[in-house]
Amino acid sequence: MPASEKPAFKLEEQFKIIADTAPVLIWMSGVDKLCYFFNTGWLNFTGRTMEQESGNGWAEGVHPDDLNACIETYVNAFDARQDFRMEYRLKRHDGQYRWLVDKGVPRYLSDGTFAGYIGSCMDIDEVLETERVKNEVLNAKAIQTLNEELVKANAELSVTQEQLERTAITLNQAIESANIGTWGVDSATDELILSQKTRDIHGIPAGKKITLQESLQMILPEYRDQIARLIEDAVRDESQFTGDYMIQPMDNSAIKWLRATGKVIYEHGKANNISGTLIDITEQKEDDQRKNDFIGMVSHELKTPLTSLTALIQVLQKKLETHSETFIPEALEKANIQVKKMGAMINGFLNVSRLESGKIQINKQKFDLEALIQEIIREIELTNFHHEIRLTPCKAVEITADKDKIASVIINLISNAIKYSPKKKLVEIKCEIIDDHVKVSVCDEGIGISPEDQDKLFDRYFRATNAGHVSGFGIGLYLSAEIISRHEGKIWVESQLGQGSIFYFSLPIN
Ligand code: ADP
Repeated sequence: MPASEKPAFKLEEQFKIIADTAPVLIWMSGVDKLCYFFNTGWLNFTGRTMEQESGNGWAEGVHPDDLNACIETYVNAFDARQDFRMEYRLKRHDGQYRWLVDKGVPRYLSDGTFAGYIGSCMDIDEVLETERVKNEVLNAKAIQTLNEELVKANAELSVTQEQLERTAITLNQAIESANIGTWGVDSATDELILSQKTRDIHGIPAGKKITLQESLQMILPEYRDQIARLIEDAVRDESQFTGDYMIQPMDNSAIKWLRATGKVIYEHGKANNISGTLIDITEQKEDDQRKNDFIGMVSHELKTPLTSLTALIQVLQKKLETHSETFIPEALEKANIQVKKMGAMINGFLNVSRLESGKIQINKQKFDLEALIQEIIREIELTNFHHEIRLTPCKAVEITADKDKIASVIINLISNAIKYSPKKKLVEIKCEIIDDHVKVSVCDEGIGISPEDQDKLFDRYFRATNAGHVSGFGIGLYLSAEIISRHEGKIWVESQLGQGSIFYFSLPIN
């Protein structure tokens, strides 16, 4: 290696003497980047001579993996005349590579001329070793802490597991004692996981496994589609379902009424499992049936004398047409109104009992809806003088539906609008065609319905808290909802307490 040109510099000679006594490794380079001086500390460390190290000789001792980065840092800093700091491994006299930190700075003569670089290095291997040991200790500590946390978490988990198991046992006991069966579907095999109670209800022999499809076969055909649809809807809408249906148990025991609930459990957005509860409601259904039969029978019996009474009133009215006396015809007219009211009530009960026993039939025919509404308004106006009933004219529309039953829905909505609003208020009826549907609305300025009550309004025998002393049985809206649903239509309400209500129903035109 060519030795660099040494600048004539007396002070530098003195410096070299001092440098030789310094406990660090010192080097110096000239303007040509080549090193021409290494202090005793350096030469002792590498075990090489000044001649061997001079020029680029020092680079022979640098670890091959660190050499490129080392030269690059030196050359870049040199060209930019900047300080630098680098770490690299240098071979010690005993052949061992040691980590050094090397700091270099540019040197200038007293007249400001650049004279090369001077650098000092320190063996940081021990520092690094200490750092490594420290890190190891820290890591070991971290691992230990982590381990301890894990042990604690595990202990907590087993407590939670225990609590979960205990809760599950209590829940099962409660479910069993309430005569509730449970069911679930193993989505992988389609096999049903059933509690003993559920197996007993279905008359499933001990040890027999059954699939969801096999269990659907036990449902009587008339309910099968409905239940399959409920399950499909629950899966699609991520909702819960409740359905009543009849089954023929596997052991051929008597047909039963069941009420099943179910909920789909989702994992990663996919339906993973479906499970629920089941109760035998045969007795309850039989009770309901007996009640309905009774209501039907009483209503039927009441109709006969009422029909005679109506006929008698009409005969009397006819006979009194030419009579000059006014009291008797007026009294008869009032009696007629009351008899009509009574007839409507009895018909309501009769319809409920018919509906519940599946005896209500929809007989469709084509008719003009607006004409029907006008006819109903005229009829109601004969007995109601206190409210203004207004029909906003709508486009003529012919629908195919059960005329009498749709009439009873409209009568019920208008009668309610009158019943539940103060005298002199307006009842407004509108009829709109939207695509292939017709929408009818009955708007009143009456007492309105609270949001909580609105949800239950169409339930059987439900009367909202607003009904107060107004007479009624809560069957009109229930019947209306059933009639509309049997026409594949919709019925709903918009209302605010004290602000009036709007009842709507919509029907397919064909
Ligand atoms: P009923 O009027 O015989 O009680 P319905 O089934 O027709 O039975 O109505 C159920 C309940 O809904 C009523 O008891 C009343 O509380 C409420 N309701 C119905 N229509 C209206 C209305 N237009 N304004 C306020 N409340 C109403």
